[in-house]
Amino acid sequence: MLKLEDTYLHKGKRKALVAELRKKGIQNERVLEAINTLPRHFFFDTALISHAYEDKAFPIGEGQTISQPYTVAFQSQLLEIVPGDKVLEIGTGSGYQASILHLLGADVYSIEYQKKLFDHTTRFLQRLGIQLHLFYGDGTSGIPSFAPYDKIIVTAGAPVVPEPLVQQLRVGGILVIPVGDRKRQAMVKITKKSVKEISKEEFEGFAFVPLLGKEGWKL
Ligand code: SAH
Repeated sequence: MLKLEDTYLHKGKRKALVAELRKKGIQNERVLEAINTLPRHFFFDTALISHAYEDKAFPIGEGQTISQPYTVAFQSQLLEIVPGDKVLEIGTGSGYQASILHLLGADVYSIEYQKKLFDHTTRFLQRLGIQLHLFYGDGTSGIPSFAPYDKIIVTAGAPVVPEPLVQQLRVGGILVIPVGDRKRQAMVKITKKSVKEISKEEFEGFAFVPLLGKEGWKL
């Protein structure tokens, strides 16, 4: 089992990564501080650990990836998390993005579609002592039993915005979701203005693994 050790070398690399993200335009100090605090290398397979502080996505098994730090920072920043926010994440994966949201003070509900990853990440986060509400299943239907959410984040590329997610967002809430084809997506930020009205902002240039399931891509 991987030893959870955070050395000065790791801390130094993390600081350099934060400086790089700042240069690339991430401005939210609380987001940068969370990235500076959380050892990303804990979320990596032993063989890839030396790459943990590169600003790149990496494999986490089952054909899935841990998102690029810039993308994690960008999505976290768009969510405008305030402590106490109830946040739903679709695509737990390694648990890194969910842990960043937790460090920002959110109460995180996260759902993962791949059973093996779900089992692995549940055990791992328990070991880390990070308390999140983790669920196994198709997140494109949201998790209606705990709705409404202050914020919703999707960390896989969607063909369209799943309607259940907009429904489960409280009025005033924010949904951040990459939408596009299977290879490239635009980051879409949706703000729910009223029960019937939303506003939309889009940022080009992202690449996620596909969101599968009922309102996602078919295998
Ligand atoms: N947030 C993750 C990124 C993981 S990659 C991290 O920080 O590591 C995207 C994840 O979304 C994959 O683990 C994939 O299995 C999952 N996924 C894809 N479709 C899904 C769906 N319909 N519901 C829940 N998870 C889904």
